[in-house]
Amino acid sequence: MTMIGSRRHRVVVIGSGFGGLFATKRLNHSDVDVTMISRTTSHLFQPLLYQVATGILSEGEIAPPTREILRRQDNVRVLLGDVHDIDLAHKTVTSSAAGAETVTPYDTLIVAAGATTSYFGNDAFQLNAPGLKSIDDALELRGRIFGAFELAELETDPEVRTEYMTFVIVGAGATGVEMAGQISELAHRTLPQDFRNIDTRQTRIILVDAMDSVLTSFGTKLSAGAAKQLKELGVEVWLGEKVVDVDERGITVVDGADQRTRIAARTVVWAAGVHASSLARALAEQTGAELDRGGRVKVLPDCTLPGHPDVFAIGDMMSLNDYPGVAQVAMQQGKYVADVLIDRLRGRAPKGPFHYFDKGSMATISRFQAVASVGSRLRFSGFIAWLLWLVIHVLYLVGFKNRLTTVLHWAISFVGRGRSQRTTTHQQLVARAALHQLGVAQLGMPSEGRTDAPATSTSARVEADRRSSTG
Ligand SMILES: Cc1cc2nc3c(=O)[nH]c(=O)nc-3n(C[C@H](O)[C@H](O)[C@H](O)COP(=O)(O)OP(=O)(O)OC[C@H]3O[C@@H](n4cnc5c(N)ncnc54)[C@H](O)[C@@H]3O)c2cc1C
Repeated sequence: MTMIGSRRHRVVVIGSGFGGLFATKRLNHSDVDVTMISRTTSHLFQPLLYQVATGILSEGEIAPPTREILRRQDNVRVLLGDVHDIDLAHKTVTSSAAGAETVTPYDTLIVAAGATTSYFGNDAFQLNAPGLKSIDDALELRGRIFGAFELAELETDPEVRTEYMTFVIVGAGATGVEMAGQISELAHRTLPQDFRNIDTRQTRIILVDAMDSVLTSFGTKLSAGAAKQLKELGVEVWLGEKVVDVDERGITVVDGADQRTRIAARTVVWAAGVHASSLARALAEQTGAELDRGGRVKVLPDCTLPGHPDVFAIGDMMSLNDYPGVAQVAMQQGKYVADVLIDRLRGRAPKGPFHYFDKGSMATISRFQAVASVGSRLRFSGFIAWLLWLVIHVLYLVGFKNRLTTVLHWAISFVGRGRSQRTTTHQQLVARAALHQLGVAQLGMPSEGRTDAPATSTSARVEADRRSSTG
């Protein structure tokens, strides 16, 4: 057994996402004590957030409690806390929950704090254009989407009714495409029989992107195929259009010829970009590591920080070899850094550098329609890609119970026309505006009105970074 003094080696893992969870699980049966600190109590499967937002799945199905997942792993303690200070000199992590501060010492630190929605410097957009990064976001969007149809049903002014029945999705990457496809399915398959005054098939769904293609990272062929499938679903694809304004009644876009166009819409979804957690900057400042344009901290080939072999940064918040911000990178790095640590503690020779094994990527467009790229050669679209998507997502969901109910809900939505999770609450709809008025930041997001400065100087710096993180 490897002992440090009279105690076991202490590992602190920040984040219960893909990187944090896979690192922690890999340390099962190792002679270390792991403390996982996360600002959420669950492990969130972000790739299916859009299905929570559009009423297919419940939040519990994609975000099981971390505590439950790790209940049989005796060497792990799970703490709720928003980490606002990492002190590399004294080897401590300070987190707070409900005003109470906890200082946790470590021997090895694994930081897997992910990324937040980026508004590319236009943080004011967040008030009227929620991103899709958390359960809060997904439930709020569910409230906004289903609520828009309810208000359209009540509306007597045809112009305002049209605004309610117009949905704009900003960002034509996988998340934007998936949201557009699902809103179209709602409007055309799920809702038509439920309303009396409106014909939900008249819904306008507009997918906007500053680039000139959808799903650009999937390559020309799949991108063109996806654009065609979206058009068949009735989605208007506006490419080469940059969003320059968002307010409560719509957005303004500008094209390459500087032509401004106003789109009146009461529901706007922001699926355009991400920025690394502000903890990446905190690490960079203390280690001299560089930050890239997305705010990600550049790590060494073994995922450690320069001069700090005891500190690892993994997943969406780190930059290495231009690896993409996808779940597989975070999972593989989580396992890798755990192995590096185990080898060190057992006195074995160091592992080689981290190499990402790209298993491919996929995006659904609607039921039975998807695109998938596997390796450098294999490209699928349509039903086969959708089947692949289905199998892989079921396999990666955590827990048998969740897999079972997810498959059941998919059958209800994809074979039938129903949506099992259409419940929305008033608080989901008003919380963003209320938090904004109170000057309280959404988790991980900057708040313009925020004036409260946390106690320590580093905390203040992290908070300040958080406020300017999309700048
Ligand atoms: C809508 C959406 C769809 C996606 N679809 C796909 C897909 O189809 N395929 C794919 O491969 N990838 C997809 N991704 C990307 C994928 O989810 C991420 O790459 C992956 O989650 C990164 O893992 P991570 O561990 O780095 O960060 P995350 O999974 O984001 O986890 C970060 C963790 O850190 C915690 N945290 C953050 N800050 C703090 C703090 N200050 N204190 C304490 N805890 C903190 C968070 O609560 C969270 O638990 C998608 C992402 C989104 C948002």
